[in-house]
Amino acid sequence: MANHDEPGAPNQTRATASPALRARFAPSPTGYLHVGGARTALFNWLLARSRGGCFILRIEDTDLQRSSEEMTRVILDSMRWLGMDWDEGPFFQSQRLGLHRRTVERLLSEAKAYPCFCPPQRLEESRRAAEREKRAWIYDRTCLGLTAEEALQRRRAGVPGLVRFRVPEGETVFQDLIQGEIRFDNRLIEDFALQRSDGMPTYHLSVVSDDIDMRISHVIRGADHISNTPKQILLYEALGQAVPEFGHLSLILGPDRKRLSKRHGATAVEHYRTQGILPDALINYLALLGWSPGGDREVMAAAELVERFDLSRVNKANAVFDVAKLEWFNAQHLQQMEIGKLTERVRNEFFENGLLDRVFASEPAQMEAAVALLRSRCKTLHDFSRWGRAFFLEEFEIDPEGRKKYLSDPAIFPVMQELAGRYLALAEFSLASTEQVLRDLAAERGVKPGALIGAVRVALTGNAVAPGLFEVMLHLGRERTVARIRRSAAAP
Ligand code: GLU
Repeated sequence: MANHDEPGAPNQTRATASPALRARFAPSPTGYLHVGGARTALFNWLLARSRGGCFILRIEDTDLQRSSEEMTRVILDSMRWLGMDWDEGPFFQSQRLGLHRRTVERLLSEAKAYPCFCPPQRLEESRRAAEREKRAWIYDRTCLGLTAEEALQRRRAGVPGLVRFRVPEGETVFQDLIQGEIRFDNRLIEDFALQRSDGMPTYHLSVVSDDIDMRISHVIRGADHISNTPKQILLYEALGQAVPEFGHLSLILGPDRKRLSKRHGATAVEHYRTQGILPDALINYLALLGWSPGGDREVMAAAELVERFDLSRVNKANAVFDVAKLEWFNAQHLQQMEIGKLTERVRNEFFENGLLDRVFASEPAQMEAAVALLRSRCKTLHDFSRWGRAFFLEEFEIDPEGRKKYLSDPAIFPVMQELAGRYLALAEFSLASTEQVLRDLAAERGVKPGALIGAVRVALTGNAVAPGLFEVMLHLGRERTVARIRRSAAAP
């Protein structure tokens, strides 16, 4: 690809051959990566990956006031965390101004664009007047009549001016890959700006220049861009370029069926990462916001999504973002994920919380065993370090409800102490022997086995609900089991 402004720019990663299908994700770094943005990225990524195409990342940072490097970093981190790798880029639109300006010059020289010196105030007043009278308003083309000479004179005199595209007559029609045929009457499209009076190219001009230069074949983006598309198609045509395929994804709504926003709760991908959601689960859930692969299978790893993705099965109905459903997907992925991969995530979770060096079950096999014991009861990665803490760490809290239910009657304490003694004396500390000893002791002391099991479970795990007690004992080992039983039985 031609790199106009920055020879050998360091932000270009892998260069690939030029497969026919080239899709891109073009976020503006004015905020975190929103779940809506992530879904747009995902559909482009799935399209490229499922068709052997190329996925390009372009950061649209021309709005210098609202863009920030920090946001760019967060967006890139979120993309990486979700596993959406890109083949080219990230390209930074702000570094490509030369190309954009040359495009404007070309359109001016071919009389497909013209300078406009109308004072913004006058335009604003007439727009307002139209609004009051409930008339549609578009720019009246006052400056279209200026001769090249007049325009030059004004420029020399320092009159600020912008450059407008001269919208041709007719109708602009396109076959949207998701929404079907869309038609716009060009009379309703105003001669939109290509370059502002401060010399900065506008969004439409930059996007089209870059998409042409990057040989983008498919533009998949949110439905909020539909009204931009005819303008951009007119630009492709004016520049004598093939128009790419366009597909506009339905909106994502909150549970109240209003457009998803912060009002509905967290919308940043980063938030879900910190809430212990697995990237695989988020990707899976987002993929199904608008795409239905057919059949009953819902829980899929990224590779399967890629294999089955088909743009023609993306529907145009708006999709509702439902956190409970996302959590359900997360729980499913926690169950089904390859155990080694999940253990790695759990290890990372302890590391990020600064707890890893205190984890006793830190040997890979030990940690994996704990994860295997706990995973069916966990909904998020956090559950391993919070609810399942006793399986990894010596310091854990006893759940007050569990204490009340099983450890509030001191009559159980001497029985627990005795049990600990018997465990110490056992020749072999096994699944069968630990259970036998407990049941025998309960019978001898006239205690219900369930009461003793409950008390020991709370002592060992901090919770009244936990995996099978004797498996837990084996995971903890004899010493830890005995120490924890004694500790709880000594409690006032
Ligand atoms: N930068 C634009 C946005 O974040 C996207 C432009 C496009 O996809 O054409 O909304």
